[in-house]
Amino acid sequence: MKAFSQATFLASSGSSTDMPPAGPPEIAFAGRSNVGKSSAINALLGRKRLAFTSKTPGRTQTLNFFELGDGARLVDLPGYGFASVPQAVRAQWETMVGSYVTSRDTLVGVVLVMDARHPLTALDTQLIHFLGDVRLLALLSKADKLTRAEQGRTVKSVEASLRTDVRLFSSLTRQGVDECRDLLERWLIQPTPRRSPE
Ligand code: GDP
Repeated sequence: MKAFSQATFLASSGSSTDMPPAGPPEIAFAGRSNVGKSSAINALLGRKRLAFTSKTPGRTQTLNFFELGDGARLVDLPGYGFASVPQAVRAQWETMVGSYVTSRDTLVGVVLVMDARHPLTALDTQLIHFLGDVRLLALLSKADKLTRAEQGRTVKSVEASLRTDVRLFSSLTRQGVDECRDLLERWLIQPTPRRSPE
């Protein structure tokens, strides 16, 4: 599958009502602002600047949809956790991201990007709660900032808390890039159907 090397921008959506119609399977990327989410997406897609980072706290937030080759999509969810973000923007984030992750039938999984030096912040945990039964990859970014021993300890502790796939990642050294791409391609080949609401 060549999905991750053929990405093109599809659409930006600023509200839960203007998303492109659901079609091919989608993998969404989430994470606190500044954790390295855009850098990780660009590294996985083999592109320099396909995903842009939002450096402006409080600006209108969007979900950005990318078409991958072979009938799949990547969705860049707006970052969270800007310290000074107004309550209205926070509420907008919750509505948009909440409605996307809970009702998008074609969502096959979420990659939660967390800084390897401080994973599982309160907001990350809140997002994981939101996700319910959605398949999850915890991607520990900026792994180059940790020693080997620290990397090992962090992976063990995150695995123990989440009981899901956990991978170290560095867009700087490219540690984990091929491994994550392979794992996500497997998600696309064998999507786990979402449990229907009870
Ligand atoms: P985003 O806000 O989550 O999309 O984060 P960015 O991708 O814009 O990255 C935020 C900052 O972290 C930038 O200054 C990047 O250069 C830096 N950064 C991103 N990935 C890495 C990484 O793997 N290693 C290191 N050392 N820095 C990184």
